[in-house]
Amino acid sequence: MSGGDMAKPLLGHGSMEGDPSITPAAGRTIGVLGSGDFARSLAIRLVCSGFKVVVGSRNPKRKAGLFPSAAEVTFQAEAVKKTDVIFVAVFREHYSTLCDLADVLAGKILVDVSNNTKINHHKESNAEYLASLFPACTVVKGFNVVSAWTLQSGARDGNKQVLICSNNQEAKRTVAEIAQVMGFTPVDMGCMSSACEIENIPLRLLPAWKIPIFLALGLFLCFFTYNLVRQVIHPYIREQKNKFYKIPIEVVNTTLPCVAYVMLSLVYLPGVLAACSQLYYGTKYRRFPDWLDQWLQHRKQIGLLSFFCAALHAVYSLCLPMRRSHRYQLIEMAVKQAVEKKMNIWVEEEVWRMEIYISVGIIALGLLSLLAITSLPSIANSLNWREFSFIQSTLGFIALVISTLHTLTYGWSRAFDENQYKFYLPPTYTLTLLVPCTVILAKVIFSLPCIQQRLLRIRRGWEKGRYVKFVLPSATGEYSSGETSSNV
Ligand code: NAP
Repeated sequence: MSGGDMAKPLLGHGSMEGDPSITPAAGRTIGVLGSGDFARSLAIRLVCSGFKVVVGSRNPKRKAGLFPSAAEVTFQAEAVKKTDVIFVAVFREHYSTLCDLADVLAGKILVDVSNNTKINHHKESNAEYLASLFPACTVVKGFNVVSAWTLQSGARDGNKQVLICSNNQEAKRTVAEIAQVMGFTPVDMGCMSSACEIENIPLRLLPAWKIPIFLALGLFLCFFTYNLVRQVIHPYIREQKNKFYKIPIEVVNTTLPCVAYVMLSLVYLPGVLAACSQLYYGTKYRRFPDWLDQWLQHRKQIGLLSFFCAALHAVYSLCLPMRRSHRYQLIEMAVKQAVEKKMNIWVEEEVWRMEIYISVGIIALGLLSLLAITSLPSIANSLNWREFSFIQSTLGFIALVISTLHTLTYGWSRAFDENQYKFYLPPTYTLTLLVPCTVILAKVIFSLPCIQQRLLRIRRGWEKGRYVKFVLPSATGEYSSGETSSNV
């Protein structure tokens, strides 16, 4: 399984949290070179975590007031002499100005916290560059993925992971220990060659969201064009009616639920395809094609975008009666009725349709909100595997079924009304039903005992065509064992 960008630190490298060899380090003196935003936040956090902090500045008198009183602010050389671990909170461009300190820095651990402005900005990473300037020091890359804001607001309120790499295990362990005391989760990213990768991480713009966002935009564009043709272009060409006022709200509001509904089904479709592949090949050990692997990894983002579109649809729908056009249409209808002397316009079937349509819509939105909330890392981490899979898998599928009911009650019998086929184009809702109904049908088929059992066995390691040792209970309740072909 190719790890997504977000998954790399967690999957490819070991978290150092809970490492028994890591001992508490509070009380030790930590040096910080630089007195900027990062240095200040770092000093505050270190002091709060019980460390003694000595800050090295080119102008200590002017900068002292910016730091907590517990931190000592002094000249760079003075600060460096007082500690063995020094955070270099200075930009790469200014590293060379620290060369005068080379002698006092010799034998010490330098923590490179720097970031770049562009991905792969320099040939060598900043940490490797720092190591080349100070060969007598041990350089550790770390803390660059944490912002000054996160440092100040506390690890509970932001990203908790601190990615660390170095060629020196002991130095890496020392920095990991400091990170852990500060409330962060140190993640061992290996040797110094990983520094470049760590420096690129804060520069990536929503790496896991690109595909889902393009997917949502693509679907939006397709459905928007389709609805525009049906709701605006058709009446303009066929009846010379100007319905262009519908574009900002009505057309958008008929497009959003289509996107939300199809996106929700796309969360569950890759699971269906994966199950089909496992059933077909009779094993779970065969690698899925890359596109399916990628798709499976992006389900969370696809689901969140589905929720976003559904929430917008709800807000747009609530605003429909506020429109001037709606008021004019209501008055027009009332006048027409008065002219035609119609006293009762109540259509029982329409009333029921609307009640059910709105009610199931609200339930679907409620379930989608639950799915979205539980996909947030802080909430997801508080659930055990069974709770998480029940909400995301079972409740998610129920949300898809209820959304289907919402769509069907919206469409009602329109699919059978030939007036609804504008330019021979069927009503939009009939198109949206295609993928979700396929997913629901597949899920129903997979729940048939014979298929469910086979799938369950495959997922527990059974493979087609392999001889395995089996254990069967005998009529007396005793177990007998033997060799058999597992695909029989
Ligand atoms: P900053 O506010 O501009 O501070 C940089 C500090 O570097 C200055 O306050 C200065 O302190 C010191 N410095 C030493 N030699 C210097 C020189 N020759 N010219 C100019 N300044 C010199 O920057 P920052 O935001 O704190 O960032 C510092 C480092 O942390 C950078 O490498 C950055 O990539 C990294 N970082 C920052 C954040 C963040 O959220 N800000 C997050 C992650 C990583 P003195 O005048 O006291 O010597």
